[in-house]
Amino acid sequence: MENCIFCKIIAGKLPCIKIYEDEQVLAFSDINPVSNGHTLVIPKNHAENLWKIAAEDLTAVHLCSKKIIQAMKDALNLSGVACVQLNGSSVNQTVMHYHLHLIPRAVDGPSLPLGPWKMQQGTLESIQDTADKIIAAL
Ligand SMILES: [Zn+2]
Repeated sequence: MENCIFCKIIAGKLPCIKIYEDEQVLAFSDINPVSNGHTLVIPKNHAENLWKIAAEDLTAVHLCSKKIIQAMKDALNLSGVACVQLNGSSVNQTVMHYHLHLIPRAVDGPSLPLGPWKMQQGTLESIQDTADKIIAAL
């Protein structure tokens, strides 16, 4: 896609610190890292989000992420990795090309600024009602 920054990176028109590449995916370092090692995994085929991505590209991205977080575990002194994927500007997706963030947390490192979100007890009736709507649409 012409004006997509990630498509430009895939095409080699913009630089990146490449971590991994194959025919379907590219993994590279986020230039605004949330933590040391923050990596993005993207499909080479442009797709805006989870609603649009082809199943085989989605599979490739997530199989790649498994490989990358194993390498992170082997190479970095980490205690965990957050895998974060956003769909839509209203939930802070800023580049409209599907991407999976892999955000490691170092052992004894600061907590990641990803939460915790506010836990609030729901009512079973409301939870069931919403689940029923989703199930009916499947
Ligand atoms: Zn793109």
